[in-house]
Amino acid sequence: MASQHQPDYDVITIGAGFAGLGLIHHVREAGLSIRVFDKASDIGGTWTWNRYPGAASDSECYYYCLTFSKELLQEWSWSVRYPGWEENLSYMHFVADKCDMWPDIQLNTEIVSADFQEDTGLWLVKTADGHEYTCKYFISAMGMISEPVIPDFKGMATFKGPLFHSARWPEGLDHAGKRVGIIGCGATTVQMLPVMAETAESVTVFQRTPNFIMPAVQKPMTPEWEKEIKENYDEVIDKCRNHVFGMAFDSPVGRNLADTPPDEVQRIFEEHWTRGSFRFVFETFDDLLTNPESNRVAGDFVISKMKEKVKDPEVAEMLTPKGYPFFAKRPPLDHGFYEAFNRDNVKLVDIKDREPIVEITETGIRTTKNDYEFDIIVLATGFQAYTGAQEALQIRGRKGLLLKDKWEDVSSSIMGVFVADFPNLFMITGPQAPFANLPTSIEQNIIYIVDCIKKMESEGYDICEPKRNEEEAWVAHTAEIHEQTLMAQGDKVHSWMMGANIENKKPRVLIYYGGANVYYDKMRESADAGFPEVEFKHKAA
Ligand code: NAP
Repeated sequence: MASQHQPDYDVITIGAGFAGLGLIHHVREAGLSIRVFDKASDIGGTWTWNRYPGAASDSECYYYCLTFSKELLQEWSWSVRYPGWEENLSYMHFVADKCDMWPDIQLNTEIVSADFQEDTGLWLVKTADGHEYTCKYFISAMGMISEPVIPDFKGMATFKGPLFHSARWPEGLDHAGKRVGIIGCGATTVQMLPVMAETAESVTVFQRTPNFIMPAVQKPMTPEWEKEIKENYDEVIDKCRNHVFGMAFDSPVGRNLADTPPDEVQRIFEEHWTRGSFRFVFETFDDLLTNPESNRVAGDFVISKMKEKVKDPEVAEMLTPKGYPFFAKRPPLDHGFYEAFNRDNVKLVDIKDREPIVEITETGIRTTKNDYEFDIIVLATGFQAYTGAQEALQIRGRKGLLLKDKWEDVSSSIMGVFVADFPNLFMITGPQAPFANLPTSIEQNIIYIVDCIKKMESEGYDICEPKRNEEEAWVAHTAEIHEQTLMAQGDKVHSWMMGANIENKKPRVLIYYGGANVYYDKMRESADAGFPEVEFKHKAA
């Protein structure tokens, strides 16, 4: 029996990025109503927030997109291999326009709480401006890297110029001719620095931990390349669905660096290095992320390439990652980052070993050794990955349990989708899901979740209750695989992949490393078996 309480919407979702748009399509197809809320003033998720100069996707465009409509795939044309934020945003507008999605989207609306109502079995969602809405299914589509990390430097409020997080770029800010200080040196800065250095008077980067950085190799989308992609889109989608990282790559199945002669290793590395992207990791050898010696050889290769580019040996030394395995931090892709340090107007400051930051002053940044004067300070200090967005609002499940409290020590879930004690709540790429090409994972999650909802609707269930023992099993399984990889050393170097970049938070297992393809298979098997990870209930039961 269905509940007598009629919700305002069947589905409420927070987040109008890829996940929100994909959900609109699939939920509508299931014949249900959906409301997508977003606090931003535009759709786009990551691409509406991250407007820093140089912001671009690190996945190649032709599989960094939604695949539910063959028509959309054929009609849209990309201009380059890695599109910038403006182009990604235009693409998302194209999807929303073509599929007439706007009526289901409500922008400029911050959700502050979502409470499971034990009496009605519905979720009650409240907005910052005091409106309330109910739904049967509450889906978090807020993105796995969206809630910024804002450091707490002494004196931060005293700085006279603009000081902001990289994901909150002030509209219209012109950095031309300005002295810019950037704190942080992750994927964001790697993209931002070469673009800013072109017109800024100076750019000074404050780096704590150097990264292993691979070449992106940007290139235009030619008519021939586009034709080839569009004629083979089924194959592209199939490759993503069956790849460990959800990307349209070929896998080096069974080829281990440990069993390959050194000359051949170098040849294979060189070949993939020149092609750019994450292919260097995922198309070369199978043991780079599990065998410490193979990982060291790969890491040394990456460092040797950096040293070919950076002219000043002292700067090259500062940029050399030390004491942690390649990929224990997410490696950025280079669009001219290293070459930027050969410019006269770019400076690198080592704030770990040489001159830690003491405070931010009215005019700039004071380290233990120097006073640096800036017109603009950018905090490129990263994100509270996987859990930050959900923890930023009050999500309460059974008996008022706060999701943030539940995740105090372990960010537990079933496949990154279900959470015990949070009935009818679903997450797109929640904690303990894989880290992969996001649109692939997002679409696989959506298909799985909407299949679950369709089952409930067709069989008249009210409640989807994730089973605690299944959650314990997934947490244990994910931890066991995590321990077998070198990414488990991420806690040594503040890796967001373990939540180790957040002060006063215990590092934890946040990612399922069993392979995105294996994970997608598991979801398919679960759906085919009638979702044994959850108990379906009637409200009266
Ligand atoms: P990040 O990789 O977490 O880097 C943050 C940087 O800020 C690090 O260098 C970190 O130093 C530094 N930092 C943080 N707190 C600090 C503090 N209190 N004092 C000094 N330094 C501090 O963040 P991100 O560069 O924004 O990238 C995050 C992720 O977003 C990426 O790994 C990627 O997955 C995604 N992203 C994707 C793209 C893309 O696909 N195109 C672009 C940008 C970002 P430590 O390393 O020492 O902690």
